[in-house]
Amino acid sequence: MLKTSAYAAPSATKQLAPISIERREPGPHDVLIDILYCGVCHSDIHQVRDEWGGAIFPMVPGHEIVGRVKQVGQHVTKLKVGDIAGVGCMVDSCRDCASCKGHIEQFCEKGVAFSYNSTEMDRKTPTYGGYSSQIVVDEHFTLKVPAGLDPAAAAPLLCAGITTYSPLRQWNCKKGDRVGVVGLGGLGHMAVKFAVSMGAEVTMLSTSRSKEADARRLGAHAFESTKDEATFQKLAGRFDLIINTISAPHDYNKYLGMLRPQGAMVIVGVPPEPTPVAAFSLIGGNKRLAGSMIGGIAETQEMLDYCAKHNIVSDIEIIPIQKINEAYERMMRGDVRYRFVIDIASLKEPART
Ligand code: NAP
Ligand code: ZN
Ligand code: ZN
Repeated sequence: MLKTSAYAAPSATKQLAPISIERREPGPHDVLIDILYCGVCHSDIHQVRDEWGGAIFPMVPGHEIVGRVKQVGQHVTKLKVGDIAGVGCMVDSCRDCASCKGHIEQFCEKGVAFSYNSTEMDRKTPTYGGYSSQIVVDEHFTLKVPAGLDPAAAAPLLCAGITTYSPLRQWNCKKGDRVGVVGLGGLGHMAVKFAVSMGAEVTMLSTSRSKEADARRLGAHAFESTKDEATFQKLAGRFDLIINTISAPHDYNKYLGMLRPQGAMVIVGVPPEPTPVAAFSLIGGNKRLAGSMIGGIAETQEMLDYCAKHNIVSDIEIIPIQKINEAYERMMRGDVRYRFVIDIASLKEPART
C-alpha cells in the first residue's frame, strides 16, 4: 500500500483536517498520479456536510484532479510517465452494462464507483478523493489534459466543465440560441463560457448584482438580477435553454416561466431539499424540465480537447489546503471568483494553526 497525505472531514459537523490514507499499489491497468491541483466543487460541501445522506467518513473530498503521471501499469496505453492527467468524479464502473457500453459510465447499472464518498466496485474499499498527494486510478477513468491548458485552471474542467458542457451538447446549443445561465459560481461561469463559445446569446441570471461586470467579461451578453421580481416578467417566454446551477432551494416554476414554448430547463445544481413543480409550469408551452449529471469519460475527453481548441479554462483562485475550511465558508457566501483550486504542494507543508 502507498501511504498518502490528505485532508479529510472526520464527520459531518467537524472541520477538515490532515490525515494519512492508503492507496493500492498500481496494478497492470492502473495509473499512479502525483496530484498537483484539485478544484473545490460545491458538491464537496454538500457531501462533507452529509446533505445528500449516506456519507462515508472519514471523507477525503475532491473530484477535480490534475496531476503528473508517476507510474503506469504494464498494460496502460493511454498515458505515460510524466504526462499531465486528470481524474474527475468517477474511478471505476462495471464496463459491461448498457450504460457503460453506451459511454455514460456515471449511470452504471451496478453503481459507479465515485472518486470519494463511495466504494470501489468490491463495495468494500472506500474511495478517497483529490485533497491528497497521490491517487491510483484505472486508466479508463483517467483523462489526458491537453498540453495547451494550464494545469491549475484545467482542474475544474473535470467536474464544473463537463457538467455544463454535457447538457449544452445534449440540448444542441447552437448559434443564435437564447441561453439563460442561472447562478454565477463554479458551474455557472463555465456554462457561460461554453454557451458563448457555441454561438449562443447568453443571459446571466444571478442573485448577485456585484457579479455583473464579471458575467460580461466571461462573455455573457446580458445580466439580470433574479432578486428583482420584475426580471421574471420581463424575460417571460424568452429562453430556448436554461442551465440551472443553483445549489440552494429555490422556485423552479418561476424559472420555467422564462422558457419559450418547447424550451428546456436543465437542472445541474443539487439543492438538498425537493422542490414542488406545478403541472401548469410545464404544460403551458410544452416545456421540458430535465437533469444532467457530469458526463461519461469519452465526453469528458471531448470537452477537454474542445477547451484546448477554444482556449477555455476556469477562472480560479489558488489556495493552500490549510485554507480549505475558510474556502467552504466563502463559497457558502457566494464569495468565489469562480473556483477555488487547492495547490496540493501545500500538503507537504507542516500544518498551520
Ligand atoms: P457554487 O460555486 O457555490 O455556485 C452556486 C451559485 O448558485 C452561487 O454562486 C450563486 O450564484 C447561486 N446561489 C447560491 N445560493 C443561492 C440561493 N439561495 N438562491 C439563488 N441562487 C443561489 O457551486 P458550484 O460548484 O457551481 O455547484 C453548484 C451546484 O451544482 C451544487 O449544488 C453542486 O452540488 C451541483 N453540482 C452538480 C453536478 C452534476 O453532475 N449535476 C456536478 C457538480 C456540481 P449567484 O450569486 O450568481 O446567484
Ligand atoms: Zn463536482
Ligand atoms: Zn456498468
